[in-house]
Amino acid sequence: MTTVETGSIVHADAARDARALDPVAALEEVAPIGRDDLRGGWSRHLLDDADLKMREWFFQTALRLGLGVESDRNANQWAVWSPEGATGPAVGTGSHLDSVPGGGPLDGPLGVVSSLAAVSRLIAEGHRPTRPIRVANFAEEEGARFGVPCLGSQLLCGELTAERVGALTDNSGTTAREVLSEAGFDPDAIGADPKCLADLAMYVELHVEQGRQLEPLGAPVGLATGILAHGRWRLTINGRGDHAGATELDSRHDPMLVAAATIQAARARALLADPSTKARATVGKLQVVPGGSNAIASEVRLWLDARAEHDADVRALVDGILTDARKAARGEGCEIELSEESFSTRVTFDSGLTDRLHEAIAPRAGIVPRIPTGAGHDAGILAAYIPTAMLFVRNPDGVSHSPHEGASDDDIRAGVDALTDALRALTAETS
Ligand SMILES: [Zn+2]
Repeated sequence: MTTVETGSIVHADAARDARALDPVAALEEVAPIGRDDLRGGWSRHLLDDADLKMREWFFQTALRLGLGVESDRNANQWAVWSPEGATGPAVGTGSHLDSVPGGGPLDGPLGVVSSLAAVSRLIAEGHRPTRPIRVANFAEEEGARFGVPCLGSQLLCGELTAERVGALTDNSGTTAREVLSEAGFDPDAIGADPKCLADLAMYVELHVEQGRQLEPLGAPVGLATGILAHGRWRLTINGRGDHAGATELDSRHDPMLVAAATIQAARARALLADPSTKARATVGKLQVVPGGSNAIASEVRLWLDARAEHDADVRALVDGILTDARKAARGEGCEIELSEESFSTRVTFDSGLTDRLHEAIAPRAGIVPRIPTGAGHDAGILAAYIPTAMLFVRNPDGVSHSPHEGASDDDIRAGVDALTDALRALTAETS
Protein backbone atom coordinates (compact mmCIF):
# COMPACT_ATOMS: atom_id res chain seq x y z
CA MET A 1 0.00 0.00 0.00
CA THR A 2 1.49 3.33 -1.00
CA THR A 3 1.73 5.81 1.81
CA VAL A 4 1.56 9.49 1.01
CA GLU A 5 3.11 12.00 3.32
CA THR A 6 0.49 14.61 4.02
CA GLY A 7 1.05 17.92 2.30
CA SER A 8 3.66 16.72 -0.21
CA ILE A 9 2.61 16.20 -3.80
CA VAL A 10 3.78 13.02 -5.50
CA HIS A 11 4.25 13.42 -9.24
CA ALA A 12 3.96 10.91 -12.00
CA ASP A 13 7.03 9.67 -13.82
CA ALA A 14 7.33 10.12 -17.56
CA ALA A 15 5.44 6.92 -18.38
CA ARG A 16 1.96 8.35 -18.03
CA ASP A 17 -0.98 6.97 -19.95
CA ALA A 18 -1.97 9.47 -22.63
CA ARG A 19 -5.41 7.90 -23.17
CA ALA A 20 -8.47 9.42 -21.52
CA LEU A 21 -9.95 7.41 -18.66
CA ASP A 22 -13.18 5.60 -19.54
CA PRO A 23 -15.55 6.08 -16.58
CA VAL A 24 -17.45 2.82 -17.12
CA ALA A 25 -14.23 0.79 -17.26
CA ALA A 26 -12.89 2.63 -14.18
CA LEU A 27 -16.05 1.81 -12.20
CA GLU A 28 -15.60 -1.84 -13.21
CA GLU A 29 -12.02 -1.68 -11.94
CA VAL A 30 -13.12 -0.66 -8.43
CA ALA A 31 -16.23 -2.88 -8.36
CA PRO A 32 -14.50 -5.82 -6.59
CA ILE A 33 -13.29 -3.54 -3.75
CA GLY A 34 -15.36 -3.63 -0.56
CA ARG A 35 -18.11 -6.02 -1.68
CA ASP A 36 -20.37 -6.74 1.28
CA ASP A 37 -21.50 -10.37 1.15
CA LEU A 38 -23.67 -9.98 4.24
CA ARG A 39 -25.68 -6.87 3.31
CA GLY A 40 -25.23 -6.93 -0.45
CA GLY A 41 -23.65 -3.99 -2.28
CA TRP A 42 -20.50 -2.30 -1.02
CA SER A 43 -19.20 -1.27 2.39
CA ARG A 44 -16.22 1.09 2.32
CA HIS A 45 -15.66 3.05 5.50
CA LEU A 46 -13.01 5.50 6.61
CA LEU A 47 -9.56 3.92 6.42
CA ASP A 48 -10.81 0.34 6.63
CA ASP A 49 -9.36 -2.25 4.28
CA ALA A 50 -11.76 -1.42 1.43
CA ASP A 51 -11.29 2.34 1.83
CA LEU A 52 -7.50 1.96 1.82
CA LYS A 53 -7.76 -0.02 -1.43
CA MET A 54 -9.99 2.68 -2.96
CA ARG A 55 -7.48 5.33 -1.88
CA GLU A 56 -4.67 3.32 -3.45
CA TRP A 57 -6.71 3.07 -6.67
CA PHE A 58 -7.19 6.87 -6.65
CA PHE A 59 -3.48 7.42 -6.06
CA GLN A 60 -2.32 5.04 -8.81
CA THR A 61 -4.94 6.18 -11.32
CA ALA A 62 -4.07 9.84 -10.82
CA LEU A 63 -0.38 9.08 -11.32
CA ARG A 64 -1.16 7.02 -14.42
CA LEU A 65 -3.01 10.01 -15.87
CA GLY A 66 -0.02 12.27 -15.20
CA LEU A 67 -1.52 14.13 -12.24
CA GLY A 68 0.19 14.98 -8.96
CA VAL A 69 -1.38 13.44 -5.85
CA GLU A 70 -1.39 14.55 -2.24
CA SER A 71 -3.23 13.74 0.93
CA ASP A 72 -4.16 16.65 3.18
CA ARG A 73 -4.00 16.63 6.99
CA ASN A 74 -7.66 15.58 7.17
CA ALA A 75 -7.29 12.38 5.14
CA ASN A 76 -8.75 13.92 1.99
CA GLN A 77 -6.89 13.01 -1.20
CA TRP A 78 -6.27 15.45 -4.05
CA ALA A 79 -5.22 14.73 -7.63
CA VAL A 80 -3.77 17.91 -9.10
CA TRP A 81 -3.45 19.02 -12.70
CA SER A 82 -1.38 22.17 -12.77
CA PRO A 83 0.38 22.49 -16.12
CA GLU A 84 2.37 25.53 -17.21
CA GLY A 85 0.10 28.55 -17.55
CA ALA A 86 -2.32 27.43 -14.84
CA THR A 87 -2.12 29.90 -11.96
CA GLY A 88 -4.02 30.95 -8.88
CA PRO A 89 -6.55 28.96 -6.91
CA ALA A 90 -7.89 25.85 -8.63
CA VAL A 91 -11.24 24.71 -9.88
CA GLY A 92 -12.07 21.90 -7.47
CA THR A 93 -14.07 18.84 -8.46
CA GLY A 94 -14.43 15.25 -7.23
CA SER A 95 -16.57 13.53 -4.61
CA HIS A 96 -15.94 10.63 -2.21
CA LEU A 97 -15.02 6.94 -2.37
CA ASP A 98 -16.52 5.77 0.93
CA SER A 99 -20.03 4.29 1.12
CA VAL A 100 -22.94 3.68 3.44
CA PRO A 101 -23.10 0.10 4.81
CA GLY A 102 -24.25 -2.07 1.88
CA GLY A 103 -24.38 0.91 -0.47
CA GLY A 104 -24.56 1.20 -4.24
CA PRO A 105 -21.76 1.37 -6.80
CA LEU A 106 -22.13 5.04 -7.75
CA ASP A 107 -22.79 7.20 -4.68
CA GLY A 108 -19.37 8.76 -4.40
CA PRO A 109 -17.24 6.81 -6.88
CA LEU A 110 -19.17 8.17 -9.88
CA GLY A 111 -18.10 11.72 -9.01
CA VAL A 112 -14.45 10.83 -8.43
CA VAL A 113 -14.20 8.63 -11.52
CA SER A 114 -16.00 11.20 -13.70
CA SER A 115 -13.71 13.99 -12.47
CA LEU A 116 -10.56 12.00 -13.25
CA ALA A 117 -12.08 11.05 -16.63
CA ALA A 118 -12.96 14.68 -17.43
CA VAL A 119 -9.46 15.92 -16.56
CA SER A 120 -7.89 13.13 -18.63
CA ARG A 121 -10.06 14.17 -21.59
CA LEU A 122 -8.97 17.80 -21.24
CA ILE A 123 -5.33 16.63 -21.19
CA ALA A 124 -5.90 14.39 -24.24
CA GLU A 125 -7.54 17.18 -26.25
CA GLY A 126 -4.65 19.57 -25.50
CA HIS A 127 -6.64 22.03 -23.38
CA ARG A 128 -4.46 24.66 -21.71
CA PRO A 129 -6.14 25.57 -18.41
CA THR A 130 -5.72 29.04 -16.91
CA ARG A 131 -6.23 27.58 -13.44
CA PRO A 132 -5.17 24.26 -11.92
CA ILE A 133 -7.83 21.59 -11.43
CA ARG A 134 -7.91 19.69 -8.14
CA VAL A 135 -9.86 16.42 -7.93
CA ALA A 136 -10.94 15.52 -4.39
CA ASN A 137 -11.60 12.22 -2.72
CA PHE A 138 -13.20 13.50 0.49
CA ALA A 139 -12.83 11.31 3.59
CA GLU A 140 -15.85 9.68 5.31
CA GLU A 141 -18.56 11.61 3.43
CA GLU A 142 -21.24 9.17 4.52
CA GLY A 143 -20.22 9.17 8.17
CA ALA A 144 -20.79 5.43 8.24
CA ARG A 145 -17.86 4.62 10.50
CA PHE A 146 -17.89 7.49 13.00
CA GLY A 147 -21.46 8.82 12.69
CA VAL A 148 -20.57 12.28 11.40
CA PRO A 149 -21.16 12.88 7.68
CA CYS A 150 -18.81 14.94 5.51
CA LEU A 151 -16.06 14.42 8.07
CA GLY A 152 -13.16 15.34 5.76
CA SER A 153 -14.73 18.47 4.30
CA GLN A 154 -16.06 19.63 7.68
CA LEU A 155 -12.60 19.25 9.21
CA LEU A 156 -10.99 21.08 6.29
CA CYS A 157 -13.41 24.00 6.68
CA GLY A 158 -12.92 24.11 10.46
CA GLU A 159 -16.46 23.04 11.27
CA LEU A 160 -15.18 20.18 13.44
CA THR A 161 -12.25 20.20 15.85
CA ALA A 162 -9.49 17.63 16.28
CA GLU A 163 -10.64 17.14 19.85
CA ARG A 164 -14.23 16.26 18.92
CA VAL A 165 -13.35 14.04 15.96
CA GLY A 166 -10.49 12.26 17.75
CA ALA A 167 -12.90 11.08 20.45
CA LEU A 168 -15.53 9.65 18.05
CA THR A 169 -15.79 5.87 18.21
CA ASP A 170 -16.83 3.28 15.65
CA ASN A 171 -19.06 0.26 16.31
CA SER A 172 -16.13 -1.70 17.75
CA GLY A 173 -15.22 1.09 20.18
CA THR A 174 -12.06 2.14 18.29
CA THR A 175 -11.55 5.91 18.33
CA ALA A 176 -11.05 8.02 15.22
CA ARG A 177 -7.78 9.09 16.84
CA GLU A 178 -6.54 5.50 16.84
CA VAL A 179 -7.73 4.87 13.28
CA LEU A 180 -6.06 8.03 11.94
CA SER A 181 -2.79 7.26 13.77
CA GLU A 182 -2.75 3.70 12.50
CA ALA A 183 -3.09 4.97 8.91
CA GLY A 184 -0.20 7.41 9.33
CA PHE A 185 -2.11 10.64 9.98
CA ASP A 186 -1.38 12.92 12.92
CA PRO A 187 -4.66 13.06 14.90
CA ASP A 188 -3.54 16.30 16.57
CA ALA A 189 -3.03 17.99 13.19
CA ILE A 190 -6.55 17.46 11.83
CA GLY A 191 -8.91 20.42 11.63
CA ALA A 192 -9.21 23.75 9.80
CA ASP A 193 -6.86 23.89 6.82
CA PRO A 194 -7.09 27.45 5.45
CA LYS A 195 -4.28 26.86 2.97
CA CYS A 196 -6.03 23.88 1.40
CA LEU A 197 -9.28 25.85 1.23
CA ALA A 198 -7.49 28.87 -0.29
CA ASP A 199 -6.21 26.57 -3.06
CA LEU A 200 -9.81 26.28 -4.29
CA ALA A 201 -11.50 29.09 -6.22
CA MET A 202 -14.71 27.10 -6.62
CA TYR A 203 -15.98 23.53 -6.37
CA VAL A 204 -18.15 21.49 -8.75
CA GLU A 205 -19.28 18.04 -7.60
CA LEU A 206 -20.82 15.47 -9.93
CA HIS A 207 -23.01 12.87 -8.23
CA VAL A 208 -25.49 10.17 -9.13
CA GLU A 209 -29.00 11.53 -8.69
CA GLN A 210 -30.66 10.45 -5.44
CA GLY A 211 -34.38 10.53 -6.12
CA ARG A 212 -36.12 10.42 -9.46
CA GLN A 213 -36.52 13.86 -10.96
CA LEU A 214 -34.47 13.68 -14.18
CA GLU A 215 -36.08 10.54 -15.66
CA PRO A 216 -39.55 12.06 -16.20
CA LEU A 217 -37.91 15.12 -17.75
CA GLY A 218 -35.91 13.01 -20.22
CA ALA A 219 -32.66 14.59 -19.09
CA PRO A 220 -29.41 12.63 -18.57
CA VAL A 221 -27.87 15.39 -16.44
CA GLY A 222 -29.18 18.12 -14.18
CA LEU A 223 -27.88 20.93 -11.98
CA ALA A 224 -28.58 21.26 -8.25
CA THR A 225 -30.36 24.23 -6.75
CA GLY A 226 -29.79 23.40 -3.09
CA ILE A 227 -29.74 20.82 -0.30
CA LEU A 228 -32.43 20.41 2.34
CA ALA A 229 -31.47 21.22 5.93
CA HIS A 230 -30.69 17.96 7.70
CA GLY A 231 -29.28 16.39 10.83
CA ARG A 232 -28.66 13.18 12.77
CA TRP A 233 -29.56 12.51 16.37
CA ARG A 234 -28.66 9.53 18.54
CA LEU A 235 -31.15 8.48 21.20
CA THR A 236 -29.91 6.12 23.89
CA ILE A 237 -32.98 4.53 25.47
CA ASN A 238 -32.22 2.92 28.83
CA GLY A 239 -34.56 0.28 30.21
CA ARG A 240 -34.01 -2.85 32.30
CA GLY A 241 -32.70 -6.06 30.82
CA ASP A 242 -34.60 -9.13 31.97
CA HIS A 243 -35.90 -12.59 31.05
CA ALA A 244 -38.38 -12.75 28.13
CA GLY A 245 -40.32 -15.59 29.74
CA ALA A 246 -40.08 -14.98 33.46
CA THR A 247 -40.81 -11.24 33.61
CA GLU A 248 -44.47 -10.20 34.08
CA LEU A 249 -45.66 -7.67 31.49
CA ASP A 250 -46.50 -5.05 34.12
CA SER A 251 -43.01 -5.06 35.59
CA ARG A 252 -41.08 -4.55 32.35
CA HIS A 253 -39.05 -1.52 31.29
CA ASP A 254 -38.54 -2.44 27.67
CA PRO A 255 -36.62 0.13 25.57
CA MET A 256 -37.62 -1.67 22.36
CA LEU A 257 -41.19 -0.40 22.81
CA VAL A 258 -39.90 3.14 23.12
CA ALA A 259 -37.77 2.63 20.00
CA ALA A 260 -40.82 1.32 18.12
CA ALA A 261 -42.89 4.33 19.20
CA THR A 262 -40.09 6.67 18.10
CA ILE A 263 -39.88 5.03 14.67
CA GLN A 264 -43.65 5.40 14.23
CA ALA A 265 -43.47 9.00 15.44
CA ALA A 266 -40.79 9.81 12.84
CA ARG A 267 -43.18 8.91 10.02
CA ALA A 268 -46.29 10.38 11.67
CA ARG A 269 -44.68 13.73 12.50
CA ALA A 270 -43.19 14.05 9.01
CA LEU A 271 -46.64 13.41 7.53
CA LEU A 272 -48.15 16.02 9.83
CA ALA A 273 -45.73 18.73 8.64
CA ASP A 274 -46.72 21.18 5.90
CA PRO A 275 -45.90 19.35 2.60
CA SER A 276 -44.17 22.49 1.32
CA THR A 277 -41.44 21.90 3.94
CA LYS A 278 -40.56 18.51 2.31
CA ALA A 279 -40.20 17.10 5.84
CA ARG A 280 -38.85 13.54 6.10
CA ALA A 281 -37.61 11.57 9.07
CA THR A 282 -36.03 8.12 9.16
CA VAL A 283 -34.70 5.62 11.65
CA GLY A 284 -32.32 3.38 9.71
CA LYS A 285 -30.02 2.17 12.45
CA LEU A 286 -30.61 0.53 15.82
CA GLN A 287 -28.27 -1.17 18.25
CA VAL A 288 -29.98 -3.42 20.75
CA VAL A 289 -28.14 -4.35 23.96
CA PRO A 290 -27.66 -7.20 24.70
CA GLY A 291 -29.52 -8.31 21.55
CA GLY A 292 -30.66 -11.76 22.67
CA SER A 293 -33.85 -13.21 21.18
CA ASN A 294 -35.05 -14.39 24.60
CA ALA A 295 -34.06 -11.29 26.59
CA ILE A 296 -35.76 -7.96 27.19
CA ALA A 297 -33.24 -5.37 26.02
CA SER A 298 -31.49 -3.21 28.61
CA GLU A 299 -30.64 -0.44 26.15
CA VAL A 300 -31.45 0.57 22.59
CA ARG A 301 -29.42 3.08 20.61
CA LEU A 302 -31.43 4.61 17.81
CA TRP A 303 -30.32 7.01 15.10
CA LEU A 304 -32.83 9.54 13.79
CA ASP A 305 -32.21 11.29 10.46
CA ALA A 306 -34.46 14.30 9.81
CA ARG A 307 -34.55 16.67 6.84
CA ALA A 308 -36.70 19.55 5.62
CA GLU A 309 -36.60 22.69 3.51
CA HIS A 310 -35.41 25.06 6.25
CA ASP A 311 -33.48 24.69 9.51
CA ALA A 312 -36.52 25.64 11.63
CA ASP A 313 -38.65 23.00 9.86
CA VAL A 314 -36.12 20.32 10.84
CA ARG A 315 -35.96 21.57 14.43
CA ALA A 316 -39.77 21.53 14.70
CA LEU A 317 -39.94 18.04 13.22
CA VAL A 318 -37.34 16.64 15.61
CA ASP A 319 -38.93 18.39 18.61
CA GLY A 320 -42.24 16.69 17.76
CA ILE A 321 -40.65 13.25 17.41
CA LEU A 322 -38.77 13.68 20.70
CA THR A 323 -41.96 14.72 22.48
CA ASP A 324 -43.57 11.45 21.37
CA ALA A 325 -40.44 9.44 22.23
CA ARG A 326 -40.27 10.91 25.75
CA LYS A 327 -43.95 10.24 26.31
CA ALA A 328 -43.42 6.60 25.30
CA ALA A 329 -40.37 6.41 27.58
CA ARG A 330 -42.35 7.72 30.58
CA GLY A 331 -45.06 5.15 29.94
CA GLU A 332 -42.52 2.32 29.90
CA GLY A 333 -40.36 3.58 32.76
CA CYS A 334 -37.34 4.15 30.49
CA GLU A 335 -34.90 7.06 30.20
CA ILE A 336 -33.75 8.78 27.01
CA GLU A 337 -30.37 10.42 26.50
CA LEU A 338 -30.12 12.57 23.40
CA SER A 339 -27.09 13.60 21.42
CA GLU A 340 -27.05 15.66 18.24
CA GLU A 341 -24.42 14.08 16.01
CA SER A 342 -24.67 16.58 13.20
CA PHE A 343 -26.74 19.44 11.85
CA SER A 344 -26.34 20.92 8.39
CA THR A 345 -28.17 24.10 7.57
CA ARG A 346 -29.99 24.53 4.28
CA VAL A 347 -27.63 25.01 1.34
CA THR A 348 -28.32 27.11 -1.73
CA PHE A 349 -25.72 26.57 -4.44
CA ASP A 350 -24.07 29.54 -6.14
CA SER A 351 -26.46 30.72 -8.85
CA GLY A 352 -23.76 32.53 -10.83
CA LEU A 353 -21.57 29.42 -11.01
CA THR A 354 -24.62 27.25 -11.78
CA ASP A 355 -25.53 29.61 -14.66
CA ARG A 356 -21.98 29.34 -16.03
CA LEU A 357 -22.19 25.56 -15.88
CA HIS A 358 -25.53 25.60 -17.65
CA GLU A 359 -24.12 27.72 -20.43
CA ALA A 360 -21.14 25.36 -20.84
CA ILE A 361 -23.12 22.13 -20.65
CA ALA A 362 -26.38 22.81 -22.48
CA PRO A 363 -25.01 22.89 -26.07
CA ARG A 364 -24.08 19.20 -25.83
CA ALA A 365 -26.41 17.93 -23.07
CA GLY A 366 -29.64 19.54 -24.29
CA ILE A 367 -32.18 20.09 -21.56
CA VAL A 368 -30.43 20.53 -18.19
CA PRO A 369 -33.06 20.82 -15.43
CA ARG A 370 -32.32 22.43 -12.07
CA ILE A 371 -33.41 20.25 -9.18
CA PRO A 372 -33.18 20.32 -5.36
CA THR A 373 -31.86 17.38 -3.36
CA GLY A 374 -32.57 15.85 0.03
CA ALA A 375 -29.10 14.32 0.26
CA GLY A 376 -26.09 15.90 1.96
CA HIS A 377 -22.78 16.34 0.11
CA ASP A 378 -19.29 17.73 0.68
CA ALA A 379 -20.28 20.40 -1.86
CA GLY A 380 -22.88 21.51 0.68
CA ILE A 381 -20.18 22.05 3.32
CA LEU A 382 -17.88 23.92 0.92
CA ALA A 383 -20.77 26.11 -0.28
CA ALA A 384 -20.46 28.26 2.85
CA TYR A 385 -16.87 29.17 1.90
CA ILE A 386 -16.47 29.18 -1.89
CA PRO A 387 -18.80 29.26 -4.92
CA THR A 388 -20.08 25.73 -5.29
CA ALA A 389 -22.35 23.86 -7.71
CA MET A 390 -23.45 20.28 -8.35
CA LEU A 391 -24.20 18.18 -11.40
CA PHE A 392 -26.46 15.13 -11.17
CA VAL A 393 -26.48 12.10 -13.47
CA ARG A 394 -29.90 10.51 -14.08
CA ASN A 395 -30.78 7.57 -11.83
CA PRO A 396 -33.65 5.78 -13.64
CA ASP A 397 -35.22 4.27 -10.50
CA GLY A 398 -34.11 6.99 -8.13
CA VAL A 399 -32.82 4.41 -5.64
CA SER A 400 -29.67 5.28 -3.70
CA HIS A 401 -27.88 4.15 -0.52
CA SER A 402 -28.77 0.67 -1.74
CA PRO A 403 -27.13 -1.92 -4.01
CA HIS A 404 -29.94 -1.21 -6.51
CA GLU A 405 -28.68 2.30 -7.24
CA GLY A 406 -27.78 2.72 -10.90
CA ALA A 407 -27.22 4.80 -14.01
CA SER A 408 -26.88 3.68 -17.62
CA ASP A 409 -23.46 3.59 -19.27
CA ASP A 410 -24.68 6.22 -21.74
CA ASP A 411 -25.72 8.54 -18.92
CA ILE A 412 -22.42 7.99 -17.09
CA ARG A 413 -20.61 9.07 -20.25
CA ALA A 414 -23.01 12.00 -20.69
CA GLY A 415 -22.10 13.07 -17.15
CA VAL A 416 -18.40 13.06 -18.07
CA ASP A 417 -19.18 15.03 -21.24
CA ALA A 418 -20.98 17.63 -19.12
CA LEU A 419 -18.26 17.83 -16.48
CA THR A 420 -15.57 18.07 -19.18
CA ASP A 421 -17.46 20.95 -20.83
CA ALA A 422 -17.87 22.63 -17.42
CA LEU A 423 -14.22 22.28 -16.40
CA ARG A 424 -13.02 23.42 -19.82
CA ALA A 425 -15.14 26.57 -19.58
CA LEU A 426 -14.18 27.31 -15.97
CA THR A 427 -10.47 27.01 -16.76
CA ALA A 428 -10.65 28.93 -20.04
CA GLU A 429 -11.26 32.24 -18.29
CA THR A 430 -9.50 34.11 -15.53
CA SER A 431 -12.48 35.54 -13.69
ZN1 LIG B 1 -22.46 10.76 -2.01
